[in-house]
Amino acid sequence: MRHILIAAVLSLTACTMMQRSQTEQIVAATLISDQQETDLGFQVHEELKKENTKFLENPEVGFYVNGLVQKILPLASADRPNVKWQYFVIDDPKTVNAFATPGGRIYVYTGLLLTAETEAEIVGVLGHELGHVVARHSARQLVAAKGLETVGAMALGKNPSDIAVLAAGLLGKGSIMAYGRDMELEADQYGAKYANAAGYDPRGLATFFEKLKAKGEVPEFLTFLSTHPSNNERIEKIVASIAANNYQSKELGAASLKAIQAKIPTK
Ligand code: ZN
Repeated sequence: MRHILIAAVLSLTACTMMQRSQTEQIVAATLISDQQETDLGFQVHEELKKENTKFLENPEVGFYVNGLVQKILPLASADRPNVKWQYFVIDDPKTVNAFATPGGRIYVYTGLLLTAETEAEIVGVLGHELGHVVARHSARQLVAAKGLETVGAMALGKNPSDIAVLAAGLLGKGSIMAYGRDMELEADQYGAKYANAAGYDPRGLATFFEKLKAKGEVPEFLTFLSTHPSNNERIEKIVASIAANNYQSKELGAASLKAIQAKIPTK
């Protein structure tokens, strides 16, 4: 059944970018199973440990971040069931970043927790990262990077571990986490949606981008901002989505964030 579907998808010639994107999504979901994504996420985590990534072991901060994650998880789980979501706090106050890996592991740097001024901003970024997982961006990126034919041929091949090796190689260079412009914009939509559903002001994601732009800081997960000619496009799209969906949530959560920031190491 799976092979028939792959063959059918591969026989379609993608004529436009839109068709190509949709085709990639279908192929990605077909080729890379939930279990394979989980395995990939595990591999990346092992890689991070090998690189001596320092995880923050502060129960109070962990409890706090967990609380924020739990607020947005129900919607992400509804959009994509069968994901075992996990989160990790990386002790690195100089890095303003967050990322997600296949299988539902979310990583947030203390630098991001310290730079944000409201919980709405953090929840917006976390929602954005969940969005990458929900929309299978890693798998789609793999297909986009290697081409339908290559990935498709490997999936049809005799050795199922080929795909894992290929993906691990991409992950190792970090390129699978450097999503394209369309994927970033799509993840932003999820960020606003999830933040709003959790009761937070969905503009938090946009204000966070504004702040980083003003500071001249462009974290890795925003890199396309530095190369794309229209830096404001992302913020405009978030604001437009809030209006179109009539998102009304207002919670900012500034005071509770301030209290926890005092407990985060700054060195
Ligand atoms: Zn992103």
